[in-house]
Order: sequence, then C-alpha cells, then structure tokens
Amino acid sequence: MEGFDLNKLVRESVLKLQPYSSARDEYVSDGSEMIFLDANENPFDNGVNRYPDPYQRSLKSLLAKQKGVSENQVLLGNGSDEVLDLIYRAFCEPNQDNIITLPPTYGMYKVLAGINAVKNKEVLLSNDFEPNVDKILMAVDIKTKLLFICSPNNPTGNAFKEEAVEKLLKSFQGLVVIDEAYIDFSKDESWLSKLDNYPNLIVTQTLSKAYGLAGIRLGICYASEEIIGVLNKIKPPYNVNQLTQQRALQRVLNQDLVNKEVQQILDERDELINALNGLEFVRELYPTDANFVLAKVDDANKRYQQLLDKQVVVRNRSTQPLCENTLRFTVGTPEENKRLIAILKELN
Ligand SMILES: *Cc1c(COP(=O)(O)O)cnc(C)c1O
Repeated sequence: MEGFDLNKLVRESVLKLQPYSSARDEYVSDGSEMIFLDANENPFDNGVNRYPDPYQRSLKSLLAKQKGVSENQVLLGNGSDEVLDLIYRAFCEPNQDNIITLPPTYGMYKVLAGINAVKNKEVLLSNDFEPNVDKILMAVDIKTKLLFICSPNNPTGNAFKEEAVEKLLKSFQGLVVIDEAYIDFSKDESWLSKLDNYPNLIVTQTLSKAYGLAGIRLGICYASEEIIGVLNKIKPPYNVNQLTQQRALQRVLNQDLVNKEVQQILDERDELINALNGLEFVRELYPTDANFVLAKVDDANKRYQQLLDKQVVVRNRSTQPLCENTLRFTVGTPEENKRLIAILKELN
C-alpha cells in the first residue's frame, strides 16, 4: 500500500505515552538461578506466586512458528475481547473517530465502540451475507479508523469472498481487522499469510472455539511489528495470567487432538445440516464455514421455547438485521447432536 503511515492512525496520547515498565520488563532471566527481590511478590513457591511473563514469550514463539510469522507480529490478550478493546483504545479518539461494522455480525464490535465513545457506522451485508464493498467504501471518511470484517462471520456462518476482502484491504486507508475466530473450521485460508502484503491488516484469532479453551480466555492478534508495538505500549503489563499461558501452551502443542476434534465437529455439522434440511419448519439453511449453523424457521420464538422446554439452548438471532426468524445452532458432541436431532424431529 502506497504511503501508508501508521502514526497518522495512532491516537496522539498513545504516541506520546511512556509505557509502564514492570519489574519483569526490566530484568529478563537468562535461566541462571537468581534471587528475585524486585517485584514485592511472596517468595514462597506455590506455582503461581511470581508475576507471569508480560510478553508470554514461550506461547508466542510457539504460535509464531506454527503460523509462520515473527514473534514481534503477535500480541496476546485476555480473550479476543481484550485484544479488540486494545485496538479501539490505540487508534480511536473518543467522540471524534468512527469505525465501520457489517451487520449482522459479532455484537462486541458495537459494544466496544459504545464503551470507547467511537461512532459505529453500520453497512449491512448483502442478502447473501457478503460485504457491500462499494457501500462500505462510500461510508469511509477521514475519521474512519477501523473496519471490522468477521470471516467466517458470526452469526451467518459464511466466510466472505476473497476478492471483496482484498478490495477493502487495498482501498481502505485505515486498519482492517479480520476476526478469524472460526477460521479453523473453514476450508478458506487464513488472511495471516497476507500479513506482509498489507500494512493495514490485523488478524485476530482465539483459543475459545476450535481449540476448546473458552474458559481460560486467550485471544490472539497478528499484525505488522509496528501495529503490535503500538498495542504492546498500552496493554496491561500482566494481561495474560500464568495458568492461561500454561494451558494454552499445552493445547497448542497438542495440535493432533485439536484437529481431530475439529474434524468430529465438522462431521457432526454435516449430520445436523442433513437433519435440519428434512424439517418442515426449517425454511432456509445458510452455508456455513464455522462450527454452527444458522437456520431460518417458521417461528423462531416458538421453536426456541420448544427447544428450551426440552433442555436445549440455542441462540435466537431474530433481532439481528437480515436474520428474522433465525436460530443459530452450535454443533455439540455426537451424543448431544443425536439428542438435538431427535428432539427437532419431534417438534410440531
Ligand atoms: C466467539 C467469538 C470470539 C471469541 O472471543 P474470545 O473473547 O476470544 O472468547 C471472537 N470473535 C467472534 C466473531 C466470535 O464469535
């Protein structure tokens, strides 16, 4: 991209900021036995009496190696939610700047815009749930800092067409955040491999979905070293706790198990799609590249309640634009899926 200048997008207060320097920043262990009297910790070892590594070096180095990026292109957070919030706080001036989101999509972008006092310009997806590229580019003004692209998209399930995303990356002068929370379920390639082509690209991923670690809260941000440098400046020093770093490391090392579970989920998803297709009250099933299926039904409130009465909780997405009378089904275990399908077939 010609003449891209990240500093023009960074908030002035962040540019000027002198970041907090923690005890663990100033001294990095070389592995020799040391006596640590620098951080006012309790010295008695219980496994977690020391502050965690503020830069999560072991975990980042493993992720960087797996994904083929440099460690300096990775930032970790307390879930994607923290990562996304850091992006707002680094680049959006409250009460001045704006961002663009593409509903129906993940609700947190809008909530975070509200929290950070940033105007959220909404440009609806088309009827087949693809980005309206021309309308998006028309909505951009000089105060537009961020464009959120969720692909595969939640709640619709589809991954967006590559050409549309590429056009946006090439034409938009702010930062394009591609949220790939569901990328491990998709046949489409991650945008990570394009990181070096687009200085305005940020890719976020998470261990909450395919990796099965929603409980530990670990979100990942990949971007240029420059962008990661800005985010590192403003992140809380110890934002990823030690237990999370340990569990994440174990799991990311166990890629075979993750892959096996993903394949099982995809097989179950096929079963669920087949079953839903045969139901009289299902009016439309939308193509999915994720671990859930969005279905248009005759009466979403009624079907939602019927399922709840059978102890099955799904998500009613009917209040979302373009999603009238839709239910979103997450794919469960083979046993759960079998029960769900049996229950669905009994509904009338
Ligand atoms: C579930 C989900 C996330 C995950 O957020 P975490 O805070 O990492 O759990 C992010 N983006 C989208 C679109 C999601 O659906």
